[in-house]
Amino acid sequence: MPTVARAYVAPSPGTDLAPGTVERRDLGDFDVMIANRFVGICHSDIHTARGDWESVNYPVVVGHEIAGVVEAVGDLVTRYAVGDRVGVGCFVDSCRECSSCRAGEEQYCHKGATSTYNSFGCDGLPTAGGYSTHIVVDHNYVLRIPDGVRLEAAAPLLCAGITMYSPLRTWRAGPRKRVAIVGMGGLGHMGVKLASAMGAEITVLSQSLKKQEDALRFGATSYYATSEPATFEYLKGQFDLIINTVSADIEVDAYLSLLALGGTMVLVGLPSKPLSQRAWSLIEMRRNLAGSKMGGIRQTQEMLDFCGAHGLGAEVEIIRAEQINEAFQQVLASDVRYRFVIDAETF
Ligand code: NAP
Ligand code: ZN
Ligand code: ZN
Repeated sequence: MPTVARAYVAPSPGTDLAPGTVERRDLGDFDVMIANRFVGICHSDIHTARGDWESVNYPVVVGHEIAGVVEAVGDLVTRYAVGDRVGVGCFVDSCRECSSCRAGEEQYCHKGATSTYNSFGCDGLPTAGGYSTHIVVDHNYVLRIPDGVRLEAAAPLLCAGITMYSPLRTWRAGPRKRVAIVGMGGLGHMGVKLASAMGAEITVLSQSLKKQEDALRFGATSYYATSEPATFEYLKGQFDLIINTVSADIEVDAYLSLLALGGTMVLVGLPSKPLSQRAWSLIEMRRNLAGSKMGGIRQTQEMLDFCGAHGLGAEVEIIRAEQINEAFQQVLASDVRYRFVIDAETF
């Protein structure tokens, strides 16, 4: 008998989420049944629920920052046991055969990784995300949460944490690297904490100075308001790496001008409209424009262990399920410090 889990469901684009249920498949030999405890609200959940991106299959249950406890395991699961503290991120399966999968970069699976929601699982049914009481996931796609990290602070690491950790590692953030993080939301604030633990010099570029004190406390060395035109004059050519987390359109050329010779700007924010930028902004100083998507399972575990070792977790505001719609509005208004996390017992 499949398990019926309580859930919050987005019925159609632009409609409020409402209580409902979702069926979880019978435990296969390699499956883990997780009792969800905390689920982060990622801006991608909002983009999906609102229909900002193409091809969403409604009704949809979103949520891909899941922290919980193992409730049951399939017959052949050896690496997890009932009671273990575990997490699930943005994908729950992949082809396991292509060169990306073999390299541990399942998020770039050539056949398309199976997203935690709005995808189709190995059972052929639509996947449903973490805004629910339970989820069943193959053990290869389950992460272990280190003892030192509270579950509520761990949930946002499963998307926001790894999405920042991966480019910081790829572009070698560390001592003497001048890193700018654009936008201090869920992703941005984790970027500051992680880059600080890696020893980089961090500047936050935010719309206003409202979050300055927090940023310095999280480890930033400096902070500037992008609403102030002088910021772009003052910081010209200053950074080796810029990671843009902004969920809306930005003037890419203006940010590229802040890169030093050979510097790289990495896009992780996903606005719905195409970007436009001048070739000269890159050519002028041999600059690079790149993108980065989450991180593979192996690197996600490395990030969680890194957070455990450095005592890092997300700054969260815990809410009840019935506050989700209001919380979405607050995230859209950049009014969250710094991640809403839903108490899964309230679904
Ligand atoms: P978030 O918590 O809403 O943070 C985004 C931040 O961007 C805001 O806090 C705000 O920072 C800034 N911002 C928002 N609107 C802006 C505007 N109109 N102009 C300038 N700055 C603005 O969102 P998030 O959960 O961190 O996600 C950020 C983006 O990354 C979303 O588009 C999401 O879909 C995407 N994402 C991508 C990946 C990936 O793998 N690449 C993974 C997860 C999420 P300030 O208040 O500091 O200005
Ligand atoms: Zn996300
Ligand atoms: Zn693959």
